[in-house]
This record gives sequence, C-alpha cells and structure tokens, in this order.
Amino acid sequence: IITIKDLHKQFGSNVVLNGFDLELFEGENLVVMGKSGSGKSVMIKCVIGLEQPDSGSILVMNQEINNLEQEDLDELRTEIGFLFQGSALYDSMSVRENLEFPLRRHTKKFGVIEDTTPLVMEALESVGLAHAIDLMPNELSGGMKRRIALARTLILKPKIILYDEPTTGLDPITSKEIVLLMNSIQKQYNTSSIIITHDVDCAKVIANRMILLIDGVNYIEGTFDELASSTDPKVQAFFK
Ligand code: ATP
Ligand code: MG
Repeated sequence: IITIKDLHKQFGSNVVLNGFDLELFEGENLVVMGKSGSGKSVMIKCVIGLEQPDSGSILVMNQEINNLEQEDLDELRTEIGFLFQGSALYDSMSVRENLEFPLRRHTKKFGVIEDTTPLVMEALESVGLAHAIDLMPNELSGGMKRRIALARTLILKPKIILYDEPTTGLDPITSKEIVLLMNSIQKQYNTSSIIITHDVDCAKVIANRMILLIDGVNYIEGTFDELASSTDPKVQAFFK
C-alpha cells in the first residue's frame, strides 16, 4: 500500500536518507526503529508530502506522492492518518471540536456534514473516551491526549495510519494500553500502519515486521524475533 524506493534527502551537508527503501503491505503493522536523528520522522513526513525528498519514489495507494497536484494530495491525505510525535491537540478547542476539525477541513470525502456527533462519538468510542467529548485538552492526562489524537485521525476512516513514537513520554502501563489500542484499531478499521518507535516492548507486541534505519538506508528487515536474535552488533544495540 506504500512503496518507497531509493529515497534521498539531505539538509545542507547533512545527508539524512541515502537510498532508503520500504514496502508496507496491506493490513500490516511495520515497525521502524533507528537512532535519534537517523531520519525516521523525515521519512514519514516525505510519505505525507510534508517534506520534499531530493530524489526517489514514494507510491501511496499506487499514486506517486511527489507528482500530485495539491488538491489530489489533500484528497489522498484523507486516507492517511498521521499521529505526530507528541499528540498536538488544539489546546483552545474542546475534544469535540478537535475531532470535528478534520471533518470540516476535508469535506470531499464525506461531504458537508450537518450533525457530526455520530461520527465524533464513533471515533471516541473506539478509543474508549466517549465521556470526554466536552473536555478541554488541559483537562486530559497524557495517555488520554494520545487517545484523543488517535480518535481524531480515525474520524476520516483512513486506510493507513502513520505513528511517530506513539508511546514516548507515557508510563509503561499507559504505553501498553496504547499499543493494545493500536492493535484493536487495526482490526476494527482494517488499517495498515508504519509505527516509528524506540520502545522495544511496543515493537514486540505490535510488529508484524520490522526494519532498522541506519546510516540513511533500510539496514535490515525481518520479524521481531529475527532481529532480536541477530548477532550483528549494530542490530543488537537496539534490543539491549
Ligand atoms: P528522533 O528519534 O529523535 O525523533 P528522527 O530519526 O525522527 O529522530 P529526524 O527528525 O527525522 O530524526 O531528523 C533527522 C535529521 O534531519 C536530524 O539531523 C535533523 O536535525 C535533520 N532535520 C530534520 N528536519 C529538518 C529541517 N526541516 N531542516 C533541517 N534539518 C532537519
Ligand atoms: Mg522523530
């Protein structure tokens, strides 16, 4: 559903991606690990057109992302839920307004909706927070904010969800809840996901397949168990 080929991206003399390849199959949870600063966030931003690569190809649902007109890119983005590093709710808007925002912004997919409440409630129920509909972000815990941000990406019923470090900053128990929630959402919405994480426990639970981004390339890929049992010191370093 996503194919990245030979992706290159540098900032000045800082070469970040140096021929990176990735294939995300339908229905799959693909975990991407890599050191801080290795280019994971840059890679995922290229996938949704927030960063322009220097060269290489990115196909999302068979469309080359870099050749799309703005209007087509906007439409394709309604199929891609993106959970930013940190949850980035709009602090001055209630939970309901945060969830309505994408519905109002992308009217092409569902048309103009008079009563958004059923869709808002459906998304909130799938993250277990229907009762939080009228709260403000500053009344939510860190774990709740993460769930609401996830509900906001679900409201447009995307086919793909990209997670950039969904569990950072959360305690181990809340992290585990979020990971289990991600799993149940994948089943309920039948999504495919790229999950960027440093969290080995998260990877272990969620990864159908993993890759390691090292020195700008897809250094190795395999199942969690294959990578965790690798004798390559560069790979081992991630599992200590
Ligand atoms: P982390 O695990 O800490 O989130 P990361 O793998 O996501 O790290 P990126 O955010 O992708 O790392 O950054 C990769 C490199 O690209 C870093 O050296 C960063 O400084 C650089 N970089 C990212 N965005 C920009 C930008 N807009 N302008 C200049 N340099 C950038
Ligand atoms: Mg990052």
